[in-house]
Amino acid sequence: MKSLQALVDNPNLSGAYTGVQISRNVIKSWRVMKTRNCSRKSLITLCALGFSAAGLAAAPALSRDRVETLLQSLADAPGPSGYEEEVRAIMVRELKPFATHISYDGLGSVIAQHGVSGPRVMLDAHMDELGGIVRRITPEGFLSMQMVGGWLDQALLGQRWVILGSKGTVHAVTGIRDIHVLPQDERNKVFPRNDIFLDVGAKNAAEVAALGIEAGDPVAPDAPFAVLNGSQRYLGKAWDDRAGCAVVIEVMRRLAAEGHPNILIVAATTQEETGVRGAHTAADVVHPDIGIAIEGGVAGDVPGARPEETQARLGAGPGVFLYDSSEQPNRRLVGLIKETGKAEKIPLQFDLVSGYGDDSSAIQASNGGVPAVNIVVPVRYTHAHNGVMDRNDFDRTVDLVVALIKRLDSATVKRVRDFAP
Ligand SMILES: [Zn+2]
Repeated sequence: MKSLQALVDNPNLSGAYTGVQISRNVIKSWRVMKTRNCSRKSLITLCALGFSAAGLAAAPALSRDRVETLLQSLADAPGPSGYEEEVRAIMVRELKPFATHISYDGLGSVIAQHGVSGPRVMLDAHMDELGGIVRRITPEGFLSMQMVGGWLDQALLGQRWVILGSKGTVHAVTGIRDIHVLPQDERNKVFPRNDIFLDVGAKNAAEVAALGIEAGDPVAPDAPFAVLNGSQRYLGKAWDDRAGCAVVIEVMRRLAAEGHPNILIVAATTQEETGVRGAHTAADVVHPDIGIAIEGGVAGDVPGARPEETQARLGAGPGVFLYDSSEQPNRRLVGLIKETGKAEKIPLQFDLVSGYGDDSSAIQASNGGVPAVNIVVPVRYTHAHNGVMDRNDFDRTVDLVVALIKRLDSATVKRVRDFAP
């Protein structure tokens, strides 16, 4: 019975746990109890629990914690740059109960406000992910694709995708040349993105059209969320930046309940991966005094990575960028983050990543110049179909940002923004 209860209580239960699997566990436990000569009453209790557990398993969200369910729904939602509708719907649904006001910029960024007085703190995460756009449909029923965002060509082949067509989602695979017919000198070659094609199972162009697909339709990676083998690590697509989207939701939830000395404006932006466009337009609307971008960071704790490229490790706490190619953080704001981390006993990881840009670059260049910083949840394998993040890093990032925003009162923001010699 304990093992069954542990199974039901386990926050790491993945959505794949079905009633059948739980029933199998019940039967297994039943057999153990029988051989141990347990009482008839225990067996009946076990049965009842088994049935209720099977009922719970039909709605997996009930057997996992809220944050894990939120992260899964955000990661699984398709939202390539410029086509963020499904992610936007989740953001609005989650922010609405806490926001005093929700509006949108002209590129579709969500702007959710809480608080009516004090400095204007813009807390940003981007909704979009890497993807593609259908370019051409061949007479044989294959599709070529314009890639959107910073893909590696070697990440594109042999992957599953979804096309968001007019009749709903269409499943596709990027075909890979068969090794049995590949000349020897081509076997180790990276195939350029313009040579790849999508296969939707159609026999000709008419069958593709019948699926509701045409040129211009968005294409997103298909890589469902999973908890990695009972660990605190989550496998999924688009942690850059759905991890950030979940952080800003959780921060607003906490601050709406706990209070803060400022006007908190959460901006869930569009089109970051194609040039921080939504952050630019959102900042135009927000007029921030301080900017905090929350991103998926770049973890370097994998074979072959060098510390001069990135130093972040999964599970070692939130990351704070001291430099990237698009933005330099305000030094006093970084100092305040260091103080906050120390006071709250939150370990911080500092990083400088040269091949990286983020929304804080657009925020810092808005409203006459805004002290800004990029805080990250470290992620392995960003900009690919499957990334890995650590739940502890996520929770500590929320703690850090909540504590930081509570410190951003008028006097502190004035000090951060004071450049007089
Ligand atoms: Zn990002």
